[in-house]
Amino acid sequence: MSDTTGTGASDTTGATGATGTTGTSDTAVSRDVDVVVVGSGAAGLCAALSARARGARRVLVAEAEAVVGGSSRLSGGLVMGAGTRYQRALGIHDDAASLYHDYLQLNRWDVDAAVVKRFTEMAGPTVEWLGDLGVEYHEQLVYGGDERVPRVHVPVGRGQGIVDVLHRRCREADIDIALGRRVDRLLVDGGRVVGVAVGEDEIRAGAVVLAAGGFGNAPERLAAHFPSAAATGEAWYIGAEGSRGDVLDLGAQVDAQTTGHDRGLRLLHTGVDRIYEAYLPGWLVLVDTEGRRFCDETAPYGMMDHLMRMHGDRAWAICDQATLEAATASGMARYKQTIPGSSKRQSPHWTTDVMELMLTAGRARRAATLDDLAFGIDVDAAVLRGTIERYNAGVDAGEDLTFAKDPSFLEPVREPPFYAVEMRPSTVCFTAFGLRIDREARVLDQASQPIAGLFAAGECTGGVVGAQYVGSGNSYANITVFGRIAGERAAAFARTGR
Ligand SMILES: Cc1cc2nc3c(=O)[nH]c(=O)nc-3n(C[C@H](O)[C@H](O)[C@H](O)COP(=O)(O)OP(=O)(O)OC[C@H]3O[C@@H](n4cnc5c(N)ncnc54)[C@H](O)[C@@H]3O)c2cc1C
Repeated sequence: MSDTTGTGASDTTGATGATGTTGTSDTAVSRDVDVVVVGSGAAGLCAALSARARGARRVLVAEAEAVVGGSSRLSGGLVMGAGTRYQRALGIHDDAASLYHDYLQLNRWDVDAAVVKRFTEMAGPTVEWLGDLGVEYHEQLVYGGDERVPRVHVPVGRGQGIVDVLHRRCREADIDIALGRRVDRLLVDGGRVVGVAVGEDEIRAGAVVLAAGGFGNAPERLAAHFPSAAATGEAWYIGAEGSRGDVLDLGAQVDAQTTGHDRGLRLLHTGVDRIYEAYLPGWLVLVDTEGRRFCDETAPYGMMDHLMRMHGDRAWAICDQATLEAATASGMARYKQTIPGSSKRQSPHWTTDVMELMLTAGRARRAATLDDLAFGIDVDAAVLRGTIERYNAGVDAGEDLTFAKDPSFLEPVREPPFYAVEMRPSTVCFTAFGLRIDREARVLDQASQPIAGLFAAGECTGGVVGAQYVGSGNSYANITVFGRIAGERAAAFARTGR
């Protein structure tokens, strides 16, 4: 795979010009490398390392962009896993069976359960495997969603910290990473995938691992495969440039099956900027387009995505002047979830200054009375008044009477002027429609048979992440677990043809 882009961006010497046949397989397929991995996010790097550890002599990672790491490096890097030594050190009792149970319950069994079973069994060991490679975690574990015990591991240095460790390990293992190589087709011979190509530039391999991430950066694919994100009318993506969904075209070339329509993660947003805020400050009051509350406003973001879906994907965040001013003056965001290592900085959207911007942009309404506010947001005044009266009664009682929100976040909505800000789940964090794999990370065809020589892992796959994002760390656990499995299986396939 020579440097056709002129970027000279090969990460390691030897990434270019890998020619000749090594012929390490007993299947007599000539090859330039044993395993080629498409994409250098955490899924791809884990796959490359595992392939190498399982005996693949030459492993090449082809990366479309000029930088290693994809969305994985931009990510918080929180990883979910049960039964880990990190949990045990804190006296937390947990195991894979509990994670599996929670996962299936939350998704109402609507996932590929055998694949999820493997995922939940391997998530804990994979957190530890990353630790063995050199990933450091903060001592404190966090809750990702609705679990009974904390099982989310927070890496020092966030996603970049994990990618740096994996990248360093790849260099030490003589794994080539070719940057600026956007793979545009698979090489197929007699029904078996035998390599990849970038234009005229072909590289033949004993097995191929697709780990090229999601499609958040491709609006037309969002519309087709994550319509509830596109339908917000203002979807914007916070991940990497390279998330264009190329794998969907590569998979179509070999009749690969896809699954996970309309799945992914959407975060609430005010629509006025391109700054994402994973959680709402707990003191806001969220009402639907009828003027009624519908949840504890501090719900984990995976739950909030679902709740918004159930309530028309449009809501209003209400507060009064006193609370907004107090939040601004405190200089600290009051989120329920606090992540070790992240600074307790001011919320990017909930200050008096930003409120003025939102008013100017027509995204917020301000009114001297609740009735006028109701008129401004087109809801029945009696309904909104009743909602706020009940909320305030809960504040006075020190107890959220309807949704049991933690009382420490209860602030009255009493001092005019009152504000309402329109919210939509328009921030696209990641996508979860993609190639269907089995528990060995083999890509399945339309007839549900493994496609010989083709493996996949990470955000480019479907079936593991369900309709309900189980919580922080769900995606990173998926990509690292199946990255490892895909690499191992690809190495074995390259060696034995099976
Ligand atoms: C800001 C942010 C925060 C997040 N926080 C968390 C979190 O804390 N915990 C969690 O679980 N999840 C989190 N996520 C989601 C999670 O990080 C991603 O889903 C995950 O990292 C995707 O990993 P991946 O390896 O599958 O893909 P990526 O990391 O996106 O890597 C795919 C790579 O493939 C490359 N590529 C694409 N097409 C081609 C091609 N044709 N040829 C060659 N290369 C190609 C891309 O350029 C990219 O580098 C977050 C996401 C974002 C954006």
